[in-house]
Amino acid sequence: MIGLTMPELDVWSERVVVALGQNPGIFTGPGTNTYLVGTGRKRILVDTGQGVGAYLGVLERALERAGCDGIQEIVLTHGHRDHSGGLAQVQARWGPLRISKLPGPDDAKQKLVAEPLADGAVVRTPGATLRAVHTPGHAVDHLCFVLEEEGALFSGDNVLGVGTTVIPSDGGDLLDYLNSLARMLALAPGRIYPAHGPLIADGPAKLRDYIAHRDEREAQILAALGRGDANVATVVTRVYTDVPEVLHAAAAHSVAAHLRKLEREGRVQRRDASTPLVATWALT
Ligand SMILES: [Zn+2]
Repeated sequence: MIGLTMPELDVWSERVVVALGQNPGIFTGPGTNTYLVGTGRKRILVDTGQGVGAYLGVLERALERAGCDGIQEIVLTHGHRDHSGGLAQVQARWGPLRISKLPGPDDAKQKLVAEPLADGAVVRTPGATLRAVHTPGHAVDHLCFVLEEEGALFSGDNVLGVGTTVIPSDGGDLLDYLNSLARMLALAPGRIYPAHGPLIADGPAKLRDYIAHRDEREAQILAALGRGDANVATVVTRVYTDVPEVLHAAAAHSVAAHLRKLEREGRVQRRDASTPLVATWALT
């Protein structure tokens, strides 16, 4: 995710303007994409970035470029800080605004107050209809949004324009994630507007790549366990030969996510009561 730069704002369709959150980093790539959606005087804002001061000027210029006066309301793909952290400053400048998201277990801890948005719920503005699709796996409160007018999909963190999605040990679940990717593929989106990285022109192709990549890793992990590799560290060394060693810590979390999935499916088991990262694992 490091090294890719994007313009601070860009027009990606007649109803979609992207404004970059000004929060580049290892996990955010060029930063979080926030989107102004619609064609009317006020637009829906999808995600708010992390709360970086410089983002306000970018959003202001994005509104100008979009040719509108302000923000109708905010919808969030999920509660992670790089998506919700800008709520306070955006509302201080353009608010108060209605905020909607799928309720999540960390909302209270984050003092995140929002209208509940369920799977299938619709948010409308002139020129755009957003339909929420519950797609857990990266986060339990994760929503994608179908943009009905374009048959396009706002994918949040489930599919990225650069890099691969992290399945955090806190709140992440690889089996849920793969089911979500299948659900997204079934929607047959044209283009995908990701929460990080460039526009994805061919949504289904990208989704198939993502699914194939996870399937391939899973086969490699099962093969490694079959050869007697019994914990995450040894599996990483054997499987991630194509990945630089600085990324092996991240790879370890990915392997642990696979093992938790395979455990849920009854295909592997822990030989002790340790956490996935340090446990001894075996095929069932
Ligand atoms: Zn996230």
